[in-house]
Amino acid sequence: MAIYADNAATTKISDAALETMTKCMKENWGNPSSLYTVGQDAKEVLEISREEIASLINADPREITFTSGGSEADNQAIRSAAAIGKRKGKMHIISTAFEHHAVLHTLDALKAEGFEITLLDVHENGLVIPGEVEAAIREDTCLVTVMYANNEIGTIQPIREIGQICRKKDVIFHTDAVQAVGHLPIDVAADNIDMLSASAHKFHGPKGVGFLYTRKGIPLTNIINGGAQERGKRAGTENVPGIAAMVTALKEACAGMEANAASLSAKRDALIKGLGAIPHSALNGDAVRRLPGNVNFCFEGIEGESLLLLLDDKGIQASSGSACTSGSLDPSHVLLAIGRVHDVAHGSLRLSIGEDITDRDVEYIIRSVGEVVEYLRSFSPIWRDLTSGKKQFIL
Ligand SMILES: *Cc1c(COP(=O)(O)O)cnc(C)c1O
Repeated sequence: MAIYADNAATTKISDAALETMTKCMKENWGNPSSLYTVGQDAKEVLEISREEIASLINADPREITFTSGGSEADNQAIRSAAAIGKRKGKMHIISTAFEHHAVLHTLDALKAEGFEITLLDVHENGLVIPGEVEAAIREDTCLVTVMYANNEIGTIQPIREIGQICRKKDVIFHTDAVQAVGHLPIDVAADNIDMLSASAHKFHGPKGVGFLYTRKGIPLTNIINGGAQERGKRAGTENVPGIAAMVTALKEACAGMEANAASLSAKRDALIKGLGAIPHSALNGDAVRRLPGNVNFCFEGIEGESLLLLLDDKGIQASSGSACTSGSLDPSHVLLAIGRVHDVAHGSLRLSIGEDITDRDVEYIIRSVGEVVEYLRSFSPIWRDLTSGKKQFIL
């Protein structure tokens, strides 16, 4: 038995995307900047890919910059908006406490350079309140950056409303949509999005490739300097096979989106119901406004790391939060942001299921998690303190 339930960390490349990639490596291996035929053939693949990506999110091809993935796109978007702000003397940025580290650490760096950062509360349900975005915007605000869907607890933000507010207040709005692209319908025009980051390996494309959408008229700042690729805004010979494969993966994901979402959310809800029956457990994040494949629970009295290892023994591959924080002993900043206390946040489990999961897998996961939680509690000193009344239950 092997069940992969960590699709928020990465997804397996689809057969069609892999085929596009190898075909492109064999047939369109030229440098797109070269003027002879093999180069121009690769250039054509690149520009067709740009058109296709643009059409899938309702953008113009000139608004798409290819990057090495979500982290780079986040860095470039935020750095670009900050540079525009700085030129106008606007050095205030609004974000949330539970963004991905690609956003939070970029904001930390900008803070050290003199920017002021406001991190909005995401409340118990893991959702930003649009009115609070509006209230936080000041005369000197140059950027609002709020993720589309959270990578740990899957909550989906009111992006269109936030975009509307930013448009009205004339503030650039960036969204890290890495967990949303390929999973939720994206329309940058309807959602009033100025900048959007995406990454192929989160929707069954290859790793190391992604894109940044930037609305016309917003100048980008280079974070990688060199040649004149990507209209001079991102140097380095383009990853043509990766880009072509990303297009194949995104087309597939968009074509199957509605059916996948319906089937995944039914399985997600079965998992939520089953795991919710474990005593002293709680779902993290809003039950309804969440990604179709995301389930995230806290179980009181246990360590998430032990839970993961024992589940791995049972063939279930899951996570306690984001891959970027595993290995550190600090609890997830996302769970702390929604108000979980340290002890409780430590006992977390994220299951991010994919299209290949069956109803039998769902039953097996519920049964296995129940058994492992009970086993871990049987020798947990915290659990003994809780059951003896020495400590108060929180969940
Ligand atoms: C995975 C992820 C990233 C980073 O993307 P990479 O392509 O791995 O650099 C950024 N933001 C979110 C929300 C993610 O889930």
